[in-house]
Amino acid sequence: MGKWDQETALGLKRRARKINRELAELYPYAHAELDFRNPFELLVATVLSAQTTDVRVNAITPALFARFPTPLAMAQAPIMEVEELIRTTGFFRAKAANLLALANRLVDEYDGVVPGSVEALVTLPGVGRKTANVVLGNAFGVPGITVDTHFIRLARRFGWTDSMDPVRIESDVAALFERRDWTMVSHRVVFHGRRICHAKKPACGACPIAHLCPAYGDGEVDPVKAAKLLKYELAPGQEELLAKMLADSAQAAQYRQESQAEDRRDAAETGRTLRTGTGK
Ligand code: SF4
Repeated sequence: MGKWDQETALGLKRRARKINRELAELYPYAHAELDFRNPFELLVATVLSAQTTDVRVNAITPALFARFPTPLAMAQAPIMEVEELIRTTGFFRAKAANLLALANRLVDEYDGVVPGSVEALVTLPGVGRKTANVVLGNAFGVPGITVDTHFIRLARRFGWTDSMDPVRIESDVAALFERRDWTMVSHRVVFHGRRICHAKKPACGACPIAHLCPAYGDGEVDPVKAAKLLKYELAPGQEELLAKMLADSAQAAQYRQESQAEDRRDAAETGRTLRTGTGK
């Protein structure tokens, strides 16, 4: 590890938070990559995403949810029709069986509503801790750390954990950050894993957080060769896409600020009205 050999617990926490801040600048548009409109859709999409890519799942979920939009509809679905709709996500027979079992349990035990706690979610068929945290963090706004294969790899490379056990990794990383940051840390780390810090050949020579990473040198350090390994919007030739994504996130941030300012004005106005007794 070299210069991080003697790192203290406090030093580790500071470095972890610095990595998170720099990743936030690098990926201001980081978010859950599965498309969904409600907790049920995210739950189903996350179950489908096992052993396949989010892009592949997003390609088939619109048709699936158009046909079976609610837990009740899916609980009553003919299994062969579900299998056909989800075939391209792989392991489609097991996944279809899981979806039907899941939908039936939601209908039977939760009035057709997705429960909002890890304890309840992990009792559903096909739902583990990772899926539960994805659903809680993104559909319910409950902070959660999502430990998938990218997250495990990067957390270990960053020196945030030395464990391979997802539950231990989750608690090691949770201890480094404020609770409110858990969901976004997860998104940013996974974004970085998909684009730069790959499993086989991380693009260390083109990595903006190399100065904070004990694993620098595990991958390609030559800047020109490393740049060729970058993926998606960071890949060579994708400058226009990157500019668009950055502009979109700047626009989103502006809308957020404007709406927050409006909320504050409304709250102040309501307070004034109540104080002066002119409210109806
Ligand atoms: S320096 Fe290399 S190992 Fe470290 S985060 Fe960057 S790409 Fe990954």
